[in-house]
Amino acid sequence: MSEQPNFSDLGNQIDLAAKLLARSTHTVVLAGAGMSKESGIRTFRGEGGLWTEHGEPPMNQFDSFTSDPHAWWERRLNEGRNDGFGRSIDGAQPNPGHFALAELERLGIVSHLITQNIDDLHRLAGQNSITEIHGNRHWLRCLDCELRWPRTQFVIDATELPPICSECGGLVKSDTVMFGEPIPATALRRCHEETALADCFLTIGTSALVYPAAQYPANALSRGVPLIDINPEPTPLTSVANVVIAGPSGKILPAVVNQIHNELDH
Ligand code: NAD
Ligand code: ZN
Repeated sequence: MSEQPNFSDLGNQIDLAAKLLARSTHTVVLAGAGMSKESGIRTFRGEGGLWTEHGEPPMNQFDSFTSDPHAWWERRLNEGRNDGFGRSIDGAQPNPGHFALAELERLGIVSHLITQNIDDLHRLAGQNSITEIHGNRHWLRCLDCELRWPRTQFVIDATELPPICSECGGLVKSDTVMFGEPIPATALRRCHEETALADCFLTIGTSALVYPAAQYPANALSRGVPLIDINPEPTPLTSVANVVIAGPSGKILPAVVNQIHNELDH
């Protein structure tokens, strides 16, 4: 069992974060699996994480897909995606952390969100400017031209597998980036451009161990951009961030937004 955060200790860090954010006009956010834990979706790492409990899965998913995409699609259509982790994502709703982050965008503070999450909860909470660096479970993507389609709008003919892109004839796969798969170039370019514009950087619920995502806060820091980290457990960011708020994002982010409203009212 994790201990409840001590909010009187956290108060100072929340104030500092609110001050930095209220001054910023181009905050870029990197969010990770921890952001969705309070929506009932397990993380991979950290306390209670799937990998913490069961160990890492094989890292060659993309090789298996490209070596026989027909077999991969046949399995997908026959067996569906009904593992427990997938079901938890399909039934999930945004938590107060997702809504608070969307509010920071409406306030003109957060300009762009780079999310490692594939669960679509940021969009459901009203966030608009998002790069899903590891894709989205509810979309499909062409491996060649990177065109994306909502899964429900793409008609798959089970007698003509694998599905092929109508624009360029490329191979279509699930948008979720598989282990071993290169991140789509358009997503990488956007992350790079937004990070270069950041005047404040906010990391939330990420173990900061997965690259290239973890490189963006490091790049911002190297330009002297202040870094705020929200995570109940220590990560490589804890020792380098300007402000560390050691609590769950579903409670911390709404508290930060309240404090920003206080700052802006004065
Ligand atoms: P991670 O699983 O490596 O680490 C999760 C981090 O969240 C840990 O550092 C943990 O301490 C922190 N955390 C736990 N509870 C929290 C809370 N309530 N508030 C804030 N932080 C909390 O996650 P990662 O860094 O995103 O990298 C893992 C990869 O797993 C990503 O590529 C992501 O695509 C994928 N993933 C996605 C989902 C999802 O879409 N919801 C879920 C699990 C994994
Ligand atoms: Zn294509």
